[in-house]
Amino acid sequence: MKPLIDNPARDTLAIIGGGPAGLMAAEAAVTAGVSVDLFDSMPSVGRKLLLAGKGGLNLTHAEPFPRFICRYSERQKPLESHLRNFDAESVRQWAADLGIDTFVGSSQRVFPLEMKAAPLLRAWLKRLRSLGVRFHVRHRWQGWNGAGDLLFDTPSGPLGKRAGAAVLALGGGSWARLGSDGTWCPILKAHEVDVRPLRPANCGFDVTWTARFAERFAGAPVKPVVALIQDLHGQTVMQRGEFVITGSGVEGSLIYALSAPLRDSIDLHGHADFHIDIAPDRSVERLLQNLQKPRGHLSLSNHLRRAAGLDAVKIGLLREHVAKDELENPERLVSAIKNLPIRLRAARPLDEAISSAGGVAFEALNEQLMIRDLPGVFCSGEMLDWEAPTGGYLLTACLATGRTAGLGAADWIKHSHTRVCDARLAGL
Ligand SMILES: Cc1cc2nc3c(=O)[nH]c(=O)nc-3n(C[C@H](O)[C@H](O)[C@H](O)COP(=O)(O)OP(=O)(O)OC[C@H]3O[C@@H](n4cnc5c(N)ncnc54)[C@H](O)[C@@H]3O)c2cc1C
Repeated sequence: MKPLIDNPARDTLAIIGGGPAGLMAAEAAVTAGVSVDLFDSMPSVGRKLLLAGKGGLNLTHAEPFPRFICRYSERQKPLESHLRNFDAESVRQWAADLGIDTFVGSSQRVFPLEMKAAPLLRAWLKRLRSLGVRFHVRHRWQGWNGAGDLLFDTPSGPLGKRAGAAVLALGGGSWARLGSDGTWCPILKAHEVDVRPLRPANCGFDVTWTARFAERFAGAPVKPVVALIQDLHGQTVMQRGEFVITGSGVEGSLIYALSAPLRDSIDLHGHADFHIDIAPDRSVERLLQNLQKPRGHLSLSNHLRRAAGLDAVKIGLLREHVAKDELENPERLVSAIKNLPIRLRAARPLDEAISSAGGVAFEALNEQLMIRDLPGVFCSGEMLDWEAPTGGYLLTACLATGRTAGLGAADWIKHSHTRVCDARLAGL
């Protein structure tokens, strides 16, 4: 069927994707005085934001900016200007303007007082509607036609939409059932945009547990531990925290924090080893002294619990990795307790991850996040090629890049008349 061409408005901005990045782009552009249509493939917008609310909605992080920006590791440079213009304090102020007060938790993570996303999303959509943003749900973007119109699949058939500029805010590739399924990648690649493969970030990993261990301990938290890994540059990364045993491996905050180097190591070597100290608050000497005491009538588990402070899951981990006869050897036990190796076989699939690495390369974009080779098309949010650990860094960068793209697109539309006049004067 030939697409209908609806609303041939060159002074309208089309925003595609109604997650945090697209909604922030809409807010920035409409506030700058541009007419905005926002499209999303799902029946409602902000579905992943609502899911993030189930974990309390960690909006941002209160650490000082020089530490904050380091969390974006190799992409801190291209993200810096956007995050300086919309930093953690701006996120808190923006939420407060929506009537959502925030607090700084003990780990300096920032959450809404209610620890929910729904009130924030409700207030945000109300404000956007009152500012004049028009929402079009169940509109799946398919690319462009030969005339440069945006093409959508809609319940009433294909639709073409003409716009003065477009902001793409299509998300990464995880939790496809919430809308962000990465199907935009081949569309942009067909236009020769540099799109890096989407890969799982903040993800769990597969470990070959024995059936007995997996059955008994799936869901059990392992805490506290100190993990030690070597990244691809040979640098040792040490981090204290906790993780969770799953039926197929491991997940949880400590694993997510280390997931980028672990994933990269698996890509390179086919596996990744990380070592954990499962009694981080006890010295080798203290452990040895306690474990050398005769255990008398105590079972080995009770002895380990009393002498080393290990709970059932930590003892289970020891049993997974230390041969039965070595469990009676205090030196061998202490060395395993302080340096227990866990071999990760594979990252869990992208769809299960909290976020995605990869996406549109910054090299393909200008300062305002416009695709250099597709003038008038801007990109924002998780679809850009950056990654960060959990801690509020994901949402902050989505909001900050959404804002840059929205302002850039508004600017592009406002100057389009000047560009046409310049082109006429130049005889084009
Ligand atoms: C379980 C979970 C918990 C999380 N918790 C936190 C947290 O506490 N703090 C934090 O900082 N981050 C958290 N995140 C990550 C955060 O939610 C994402 O990084 C963020 O939502 C990405 O925003 P975005 O706007 O770039 O993309 P998305 O929120 O993914 O939105 C993209 C939108 O584009 C639409 N779309 C996609 N393709 C098309 C198409 N072809 N046509 C039309 N529309 C399309 C989708 O329907 C979707 O609405 C969490 C993620 C998960 C999965």
